[in-house]
Amino acid sequence: MKPAYHRQITQIALQRQFSPLALEEIITANLGQDALRYQIGHDHFHFDSNSFQAGHAYIKTCRNNAITATSQGQIQLARAEFGRLTHTVQDFYAHTNYTALWRELHPQAAPQQIDPLLESCLTDPRLHSGRLYYPLELLSFLPQTQALVLPHLPKDSHAHMNKDDPSRPDFEYAFSAATARTRLEWQNLAEKLTSLQQAQLTGVPC
Ligand SMILES: [Zn+2]
Repeated sequence: MKPAYHRQITQIALQRQFSPLALEEIITANLGQDALRYQIGHDHFHFDSNSFQAGHAYIKTCRNNAITATSQGQIQLARAEFGRLTHTVQDFYAHTNYTALWRELHPQAAPQQIDPLLESCLTDPRLHSGRLYYPLELLSFLPQTQALVLPHLPKDSHAHMNKDDPSRPDFEYAFSAATARTRLEWQNLAEKLTSLQQAQLTGVPC
């Protein structure tokens, strides 16, 4: 996803639960995952190139780190760990064909109706994510050369599969699924915290 949409998704999903400062810390960590140094060799941060096992494991690690940091009173670190997790779960919908598999089962459904965790789609053997075919893929990131290189990249490339911005097919479904999933991730984390810890993390008194 482009940074503006990671920001919007995170705001919509979490702004009722978190103070503006806490939310900003989460968003900063989320956006930090797209730093240039994390674009190569960090496929699991973005669910690129079918890095499903590593991606799911990374989400779990971030969640556990957030719990540990909260229990040690390291609230800023806990928010950063949760922020990193939100980036990866959001990219899942932007970089895989999950939305296509879900829409196959619900052809009439609106974007807002998408279930982000439908088991039959998550375990569908056809589930895959975009591969990064460097160096040609790099040119697909530039608006000036995107159209030029697209015909030369395979159908399973990131360039063909991504739903990173509204110009891409299914973007609204990816956006909606990512928003719902971000909310669920907070619920999942909150369940493992005491109400005092939740208040510390959200910056909102209980
Ligand atoms: Zn990313």
